[in-house]
Amino acid sequence: MINRKHLFAVSLILMIFQPVMAKTESYYTGAKSGSLFQFHNRMTVNFHHYFYWCAQFSRSNREHPCLPLLSQDQKGALDTLMSWYQSNGANDKLHHMLFSDSKLTWLNASLLSSSKTEAILAPGIRTAFVRSLDIYKQTLWPKHELENMKWLKALQHKLEKYESGMVDNLASLLPSHTMGQQSVIVDIVYRAGNKGAYTSSRTSHVVINTAASDYQDWAAFEMLFHEYGHARGMAKHDQLRLALSKHLQHMNKGQHSTFWHAILFYTVGELTQHIAKLEGQDYRPYAFKNELFSRKWRHYKNIVRLAWGPYVDGRSSMNQAIQLTSALLKAI
Ligand SMILES: [Zn+2]
Repeated sequence: MINRKHLFAVSLILMIFQPVMAKTESYYTGAKSGSLFQFHNRMTVNFHHYFYWCAQFSRSNREHPCLPLLSQDQKGALDTLMSWYQSNGANDKLHHMLFSDSKLTWLNASLLSSSKTEAILAPGIRTAFVRSLDIYKQTLWPKHELENMKWLKALQHKLEKYESGMVDNLASLLPSHTMGQQSVIVDIVYRAGNKGAYTSSRTSHVVINTAASDYQDWAAFEMLFHEYGHARGMAKHDQLRLALSKHLQHMNKGQHSTFWHAILFYTVGELTQHIAKLEGQDYRPYAFKNELFSRKWRHYKNIVRLAWGPYVDGRSSMNQAIQLTSALLKAI
């Protein structure tokens, strides 16, 4: 059962917001002591994700100006890099920065871990990357950097009060041997490509965008903890996933393999809605606002409400929620 005393406990630890300028192209924002999140606001990582987003957008609109041109010479560098991004992943609608087998995926991993890119980018492409990055630095980065910091400041204001309560509740509701223990690196980026956010559960590294309208205010809080759930509690061998797959194994193989993801959306969304209410605000969770429970997940909307609503509220056990889920999924 859930310890309701922990629910939404207010942390008295103040989050000290101390941006520290490191190198020219790396900007690091330290988290409060005791916080699980380490936020980074890095120019190169921002440029790469913004350019990736542009390259995807430009598939249907080749005239879209990703960066303001300063000279004709610079256009050559941008065109070269754009072609490289598009032919190495960005043209693929299903491309994923973590799971696709593309050079772009390798470049991404290299930039996120601040390692060298020579092995991935041929000399000509690397020159185009460096020149394009310089254009970004002189034009859009100051705005993106500022917008990122504004977004982060608003988020950290919420984390000051609710991070520890949220972490305790997620650890209780989505138990995992690593939940609530190790820190999570969060790269905040102005745009994150065709995903609003994504997470490597292997390295506990989250990338989350600050510009999309559905990632603002309480949605930023919800989606940070949603990604935290990916990083921590919903990894392959966590307790809930194992229990679910055991109960659902009699159904078609893989038929409901993403149900755990619906539970993650529902749980974090409900907790966030509850917290927002404490602040006098009416918040609609991300999955409902963005109609995720439609098409493939259309049957899940009522199931998560009926089976997982009482569990999140502390009125039933995980086992009862799973049993009811199993019965309801069989009936659809
Ligand atoms: Zn997710």
